Amino acid sequence: MVTVGGRATVDVGIDNGQVVQLGGDMSGSREIEATGHFITPGGVDPHVHLTPPTRQTDGWNWSDDFESGSRAALAGGITTFGNMCFPERDQSLVEAIARDDEEAQELSIADYFLHPVLTYPSKENLADITTLHEQGHTSIKIFLSFRGFDRHVPEFLEAMRIVEKAGGITLIHCEDAAIIDCCCNLLREAGKIEPRYFPEARPVQAEAVSTYRAVGFCETTGCPSYIVHLSSARALAACHDGRSRGVPVYVETRPLYLYLTRQRFDEEDGAKYAGAPPLREQSDVDAMWAALAIGNIDTLATDHAPWLLAEKLDPELDVTNLRQGVADLETSLPMLYSTGVLGGRISLEQFVAVTSTNPAKLFGLYPQKGTLGVGSDADLVVWDDQACRTIDGAAMHSRSDYSPYDGMKVTGWPKYTISRGEVVAEGADVIGKRGRGRLVRRGPHRSI
Ligand SMILES: [Zn+2]
Repeated sequence: MVTVGGRATVDVGIDNGQVVQLGGDMSGSREIEATGHFITPGGVDPHVHLTPPTRQTDGWNWSDDFESGSRAALAGGITTFGNMCFPERDQSLVEAIARDDEEAQELSIADYFLHPVLTYPSKENLADITTLHEQGHTSIKIFLSFRGFDRHVPEFLEAMRIVEKAGGITLIHCEDAAIIDCCCNLLREAGKIEPRYFPEARPVQAEAVSTYRAVGFCETTGCPSYIVHLSSARALAACHDGRSRGVPVYVETRPLYLYLTRQRFDEEDGAKYAGAPPLREQSDVDAMWAALAIGNIDTLATDHAPWLLAEKLDPELDVTNLRQGVADLETSLPMLYSTGVLGGRISLEQFVAVTSTNPAKLFGLYPQKGTLGVGSDADLVVWDDQACRTIDGAAMHSRSDYSPYDGMKVTGWPKYTISRGEVVAEGADVIGKRGRGRLVRRGPHRSI
């Protein structure tokens, strides 16, 4: 059994959905033989986009709902996910959370938590932040990449102060809206609107300047801040600068930035790799791995935002409006296990930290989730580090019909995924029933 504190060869006793005993004599109604296999706490992915079937706002209607998305998560060793909850126009944050919760209760196989997305900082929405914190939704998400952000900076800073007072954490998408607009205009004027120019539409300076700004907001308000999907060495330097002065800023990266570079956009169907920020240079990929290895990146989250290939390659789209995001819930942990752990870049303890313990602490789920101690939920993965599969997105659980990693060989997959003591996946076969997933009401943010 592996936790961030180290490893031990022990039997794990589970009763009533929780870990009740580690080592010693035990007996039970079912015994799972795991000799020779590592057991880790179930993955906690704090950043996914699943679309409730009733939400049809164009641009936010990703291909997976809570059922297909949670099926992909469990097959990939992720037992808890955090969904970004976007209010519809004229819907309050409280109403949006209630809507997502109702649909997740009906559909989700895995446990979940919900991040209210503050798209517009009205007085009502600012008041809702405190109400939602009291109900166990102890985070908000803001987008510096939305044009509306720069029209309401004072109100967004007020929101961060409210979150800080309530004991929560703010997730921040760092790309500068004005720089992106300017780049798109320049590309349009130069006639460079094909998808291959996508990295130039959202260049690294848009991320770097926005990340420096987020670190400054964090420093000013004291609100713990979590930079989502950080992609570049320059943005990493901005966070490192703040952290070295004790600013409570945390860093997430996602699999795209560990395995792929911007050269992918030169492929004929390069639009299928589009995400925001875009894929970067090999030197940025190297910086992400180095930061993971020394703890300067705190979490690996998927930002699972799946589309059908035909939607990604829609010829009506150009460099200014490509559909962003890829499916990654089933592949994220096995690929990190394969390339990171078996490849000797990070230890198994670091794997547990970035995929489970750190996100559980930051988002107020620890120690119910994110570790295997007596009293923790019995969410765990028994790994088969001999299992070798070639990625084939069309055959996987997400309704997205491709993977950006199609054809890659990955060694190390879950043999059993267990959620609250129930075997919910055997290998890639998900046997947990829809509707069994539960909302996790969260406590305050904890530092790592
Ligand atoms: Zn996202």
